[in-house]
Order: sequence, then C-alpha cells, then structure tokens
Amino acid sequence: MTLERRCYACGVTTDQPYARCDCGEPLWFAVQPLEAWPALAELTGSIWRYEDVLPVEQPAGDLAPGATPLLSVPGLREETGLELWLKDEGRNPTGSFKDRGSAVGVGVALERAHEASTPAGDPARVATVSHGNMALSTAACAAAAGLEATVFVPEDIAGERLAAIGAFEPEIVRVRGDYGRLYHDALELGARHGVTVCNSDVPSRVAGQKTLAFELLEAVPDLDAIVLPVSSGGNASAVWKGLLEMRAGGLCTDLPALYLVQATACDPIARAYRASDDVVTPIDDDADTVAYSIANADPPSGTRALAAVRDTGGAVVSVDDDAILTAQRRLASVGIRVEPSSATTLAAITALCEGGALKSGDRVAGVLTGRGYGGSGGEPETTGRTRDTLDTVFSS
Ligand SMILES: *Cc1c(COP(=O)(O)O)cnc(C)c1O
Ligand SMILES: [Zn+2]
Repeated sequence: MTLERRCYACGVTTDQPYARCDCGEPLWFAVQPLEAWPALAELTGSIWRYEDVLPVEQPAGDLAPGATPLLSVPGLREETGLELWLKDEGRNPTGSFKDRGSAVGVGVALERAHEASTPAGDPARVATVSHGNMALSTAACAAAAGLEATVFVPEDIAGERLAAIGAFEPEIVRVRGDYGRLYHDALELGARHGVTVCNSDVPSRVAGQKTLAFELLEAVPDLDAIVLPVSSGGNASAVWKGLLEMRAGGLCTDLPALYLVQATACDPIARAYRASDDVVTPIDDDADTVAYSIANADPPSGTRALAAVRDTGGAVVSVDDDAILTAQRRLASVGIRVEPSSATTLAAITALCEGGALKSGDRVAGVLTGRGYGGSGGEPETTGRTRDTLDTVFSS
C-alpha cells in the first residue's frame, strides 16, 4: 500500500517515502477519517485495534503496544478539582509511548523491504536517532519483527541507558558533535542506502502514536484538555492528527485543548508560544535538566506542535526542575513510577490550575509518557534496623 504523504503546512502531497517537505516542515500520512470505534470483537488489546486507519498491517512479530491503563487518582482529583485521568504510557512494552510509533515504523520498513525484494540473507534495516527511549523501543520492535536495527546515540549517553538498549543487540553508533544535525543526516543517509529511518516525527511514527488520542477519546468522550510533554514535537503532532481524524470521521466535534509541557532549561517551543511566533527557532544546546528525554534545543516538529496548540486553543508551558521532581515524588506517593520527563505533565497540570487555564470540573487527561531507566538518582533512606532489632519494626 502506498499512502499519500502530505505537508500539514503547505498542503503539498507526495507518494515518495520522504519524511520532510521542500518547505522545511515534516510530512505526515494524509488524514484518514476514523468513522467508528472498532467493534468489540476486534479488540486486540493494542494499537492494531485501529488497523483500518494505520498505514500497515500488524507485523507477524510484534510487541502489541498500546491499550495502556487510564488511571484515576482520587487524591489528585481532590487537589486539582479536575476530573482527571492519567494515561500510563510507561506500561508499553519498553516503557514509553515510543513503542506505538516503533511498531508501525517497523511494519513500514518490512513492507518496503518486501516491495524492494531485498536479497535473501540481507534483512531489512531500520534506524533511529535517540537519547534513549526511542533507541530502546526501535531496537526491541525490530528484534520482535526480525529486522536489523541501527541506533545513533550521543557520545555521552548514560551507561544504564546504553545497557538497556544493548540488550536487544542493535548496531549502536555513538556520535560526537552536533547531535541536532544528526536527525537530518540520518534521514539523508537512510534515503541513500535504502534504510528506513524511524526518527521522532516521521510519518510512520506519527501514525502509530496517533492511537494515543484514539484511546483517550474512546475511553473519555468530551475531554476538555490533554496535557503532555513535548520534545521533538512528534508525539504532539501525532495526538493532534489523531484528533483531526476523529473529527473528520464525526467521532469528536470540539477538539480538546492541547497543553504541551517543556522543561524551563530547554523550552524553544514554549518560548515561541510566549512570543506569539508561528515558527520555533532553535536555542543554544547547553541545557541541563532532569528531564533529559525532552531536552531538544532544535525540535524538528516544533513548529507543527505549535500549530497543534493554536488549532486546539491550548498553550505551551515551562516547568522548572524543582516542580518536576516534586511532581515525580507526588506520583510515586500514589504508586505511579515515571521518569522526570513525564512528571512534567503533573507539574504543568498544577501550574495550569493555579493560573486558571484549567478550571474546577474540567475533564483533563494527563499523559505520563514513560517510566525511565532504573532509579531516579540517589540511594533511598533505610531505617537502619538490624536483624537483632527486627521485632521493633512494627512496634514504634
Ligand atoms: C520521546 C519522549 C517525549 C517527547 O516526545 P516527542 O515526540 O519527542 O515530542 C516525552 N517523554 C518521554 C518519556 C519520551 O520518551
Ligand atoms: Zn510543506
């Protein structure tokens, strides 16, 4: 199947497997109306439930991402006054929403390899550029489908993240120098060598990740707002596209407002929003924040994410590291584990309530995008009791 790719900004279409338009903006697959929720009999418990509006069929080897839990936390509802739901994307196969996009990206790579009839013994390859979660997800989904994977990671990537990615045995390339430019270099290399590059905001990834919006509205019709962290802008674009497809098919009339969140230390999209600009300009890449998964100084879909915010009547907010870590602890206090980048969602919800953008009784979904690797830094305190004093544990 060759689906038309389209530029959201200038409307140009192409049937070539390009990721970006000549105008500079990212392409996506043309909006496909979602006209009805799939019948219950078609419930697969994964993104493939929405196969009718996905660009490929479920690959034979697939990790079945999606269908993540929607949590309701009584304490947070009381504190915020909102009708609040939290979508726990950390419960995807490799711990983040990236699996939704990787699964479809891998499916597209398989299909292209099939069409090009790669010689036997020369398995198709998928590649990505990532700080962590996307490399992990792409490597795992490729392994499931029997594809080779190449991941480009920054030279100074944390050992714990590298070890997690390495478990799926992709080819790992550590790259020094301008990491932002690598996004474009990888697309170009892929086009030259016939490798499917599944970067953060390519059409196939956006297609897989739009199912997040479907799941939210299928579970909670009439949502007023969706809050999610933004880095490259790929996922925000995907949620927007999902909303447009539900509206085109008559499943939703008023789009919920999209509120996007960035870390104050690296917030080019929020800056453009505050300045009432229509275009996101890169900022200096020396950002240091606990929210490393969302620290992109030159977001390739930043301008598209901004368009999503304007179209839905939302906003882009920045939250600082103190607020992020406070939110991460608050979530842990109710049993929910997230990485700092995802805790930004709760930090932003708190700020939006205080600022009055979200009002008591609003129906709001916060997306917890990922669980993160290992510990969150620092040893926890222990009680210091010994075996000899065990019987004092419950008595003080
Ligand atoms: C990738 C990622 C994001 C940001 O998504 P973009 O599509 O790059 O905007 C947010 N949170 C987590 C946990 C991620 O892995
Ligand atoms: Zn264009």
